[in-house]
Amino acid sequence: SVRIHGVSKSFGSHKVLDNVDLTLAAGSVTAILGPSGSGKSTLLRSINHLERVDSGFISVDGEFVGYSKHGDTLYELKEKDVLKRRADIGMVFQNFNLFPHLTVLENLIEAPIQVRGADRQEAAVEATELLVRVGLQDKLHAYPRQLSGGQQQRVAIARALALRPKVILFDEPTSALDPELVGEVLDVIKELARTGTTLVVVTHEVGFAREVSDTVVFMEGGRVLEVGSPDQVFSQPKHSRTKEFLAKVL
Ligand code: ATP
Ligand code: MG
Repeated sequence: SVRIHGVSKSFGSHKVLDNVDLTLAAGSVTAILGPSGSGKSTLLRSINHLERVDSGFISVDGEFVGYSKHGDTLYELKEKDVLKRRADIGMVFQNFNLFPHLTVLENLIEAPIQVRGADRQEAAVEATELLVRVGLQDKLHAYPRQLSGGQQQRVAIARALALRPKVILFDEPTSALDPELVGEVLDVIKELARTGTTLVVVTHEVGFAREVSDTVVFMEGGRVLEVGSPDQVFSQPKHSRTKEFLAKVL
């Protein structure tokens, strides 16, 4: 599970996360919604320790992610341990972030070799299996620029899977895609949801959130305003701000 406890984060005087508490069960699929600037990406980046929180803590399967502070008690992992911990937490970005100078296969085997010390041959076999899973087995030797956005994003998902993470974080994985390519990426995420990997997806795709997630989180102004099942949050939102937001995106 992912535990986020009392997490706050400011950039200068701007409080971007304000005492966030959330527990995400192992194997669950959580959709995070909220207006622009509400802190969704900062929260995801904090789970992966790409941002250092100012207070509170985050743990994945009972292990601290990087940095935590409670009153005067400070705890911080060494850089090399942060990298190890990060291997448990895959991340997929809006803009794919593939290495442009590497082929699809090379993109997939890089991290297993570097981070897990995998054997090159073994990593290549596993990468090929992952590409079958995302329907791109024929693109092994293509470069990212030769692929459509939807294909690049599916490679990015396979790359995240190559580290066998416990949790995968998706930050608006379909919002840079042409509408006709959104479905193929959402289908891959849906398939993943069935395999029991814990997924956290920041998305504006309400239909997808409704169908695939078991928990919906609504954020505003750095706070979690509402947490519930998709039915609760979409059909009977408690908070007037959730209602207003949904009225705009639905
Ligand atoms: P969007 O839907 O537009 O992606 P978001 O909910 O993901 O928004 P964040 O990217 O987490 O929002 O940003 C929250 C706030 O923090 C914004 O006001 C943003 O300008 C600010 N912010 C984010 N990163 C930084 C940074 N590195 N330095 C300063 N301010 C930042
Ligand atoms: Mg964002």
